[in-house]
Amino acid sequence: MPPWYKVLAASELQFLWILQFEVCQVRPHNPLMRAVDIQHIGRELAIKWEDGREDFIPLERLRRCCPCAGCSGETDLLGNVYKNPAKPFSSVAFKLVRLDYVGGYAIQPVWADGHNTGIFSFEYLKKVAATPEG
Ligand SMILES: [Zn+2]
Repeated sequence: MPPWYKVLAASELQFLWILQFEVCQVRPHNPLMRAVDIQHIGRELAIKWEDGREDFIPLERLRRCCPCAGCSGETDLLGNVYKNPAKPFSSVAFKLVRLDYVGGYAIQPVWADGHNTGIFSFEYLKKVAATPEG
């Protein structure tokens, strides 16, 4: 009978290593497409995707599509949506102060009126870009 640690090394430890490796493969966000470059140009956001395509999103649309709970509402377990009453945007609401990158899968714009709680995943940005004007 070999010592316990040798038995472990041969069987369970190997199994544990595999298990750990598997766990590391799980990502909370697995965007279909990554943005390789995002530029704030004038009143638009220019996004270059890894497939070479580019999207241009007007800042106003970006702000109106803000996915944060305060703008889009929060859904409870029963599916009820709680949303703040729509309030008019101020004149600086569509001005972008800064863009922060979040975990390599999203951007977090900081708007001139101080709003900064919207996290736009690349996947969501694709959807916003594909949404027709209006
Ligand atoms: Zn918001």
